[in-house]
Amino acid sequence: MSFLDRGIQIKTPEQIAGMRVAGLVVGETLELLRGSVRAGTTTGELDAIAEDNIRSSGGTPSFKGYHGFPGSICASVNDEVVHGIPGERVLADGDVVSIDCGAIVDGWHGDAAITVAIGEVPAEVTELMRVTEEAMWRGIAAARLGGRVTDISHAVESHVRSQGCYGILEDYVGHGIGSEMHQPPNVPNFGKPGRGPKLVQGLALAVEPMITLGGKDTVLLEDDWTVITADGTWAAHFENTFTLTPQGAWVLTALDGGESALRALGVPFGGR
Ligand code: MG
Ligand code: MG
Repeated sequence: MSFLDRGIQIKTPEQIAGMRVAGLVVGETLELLRGSVRAGTTTGELDAIAEDNIRSSGGTPSFKGYHGFPGSICASVNDEVVHGIPGERVLADGDVVSIDCGAIVDGWHGDAAITVAIGEVPAEVTELMRVTEEAMWRGIAAARLGGRVTDISHAVESHVRSQGCYGILEDYVGHGIGSEMHQPPNVPNFGKPGRGPKLVQGLALAVEPMITLGGKDTVLLEDDWTVITADGTWAAHFENTFTLTPQGAWVLTALDGGESALRALGVPFGGR
């Protein structure tokens, strides 16, 4: 493994294959959780399901104990954007929950998030979720070998702005990932293209737009973790970990490697 400037970790193809193993554990855990979310379930129950699945798959929950975080997932409900602590909160019809999950397998990390509606939610919330997920895919699809990190940022922002009046968080961003969950470079969800570190083979990035129905400003709750919108509007959060191969993008935390979403956007799929 080599490190380029700015502490960016470049993985060998074998190491990327190791990250795919971790990514699949994360992707499978999130699909299990998607099927487990229903009215009456507590976020703590989701956390237990996640931890059991990660450990029985040979992984370690990377969030648990991360700077003292008590859960294996972050569960952020409604106006909570990210980093919600799973616990006694009971999910109710009409809620949306962002579930963020990370796993380590043989020293390599995967990190991904989905937002799930419980029962019927307002149409604008369904649209917020759609726009946020689509922005994540557009960001990944904008990445090319030889391009720059903010090509991703620009694609995310452009899509969100084209879809309506939404808030894009600026205080929290995507990131490099590899033998640590959070590595350089930052991957903002806004900005001009063509800036920041070069996109090279062996780089792995987590792209994670955090989008609100109102403004971009957030407040940190007294638990020192949960990030809520300052204006009380609801938020959505989607995330995937991906890398670039000479063939194209490979989404390490997507069960199909991102093939269907990337092909739908007309960009080459770089996975195996
Ligand atoms: Mg995450
Ligand atoms: Mg992340």
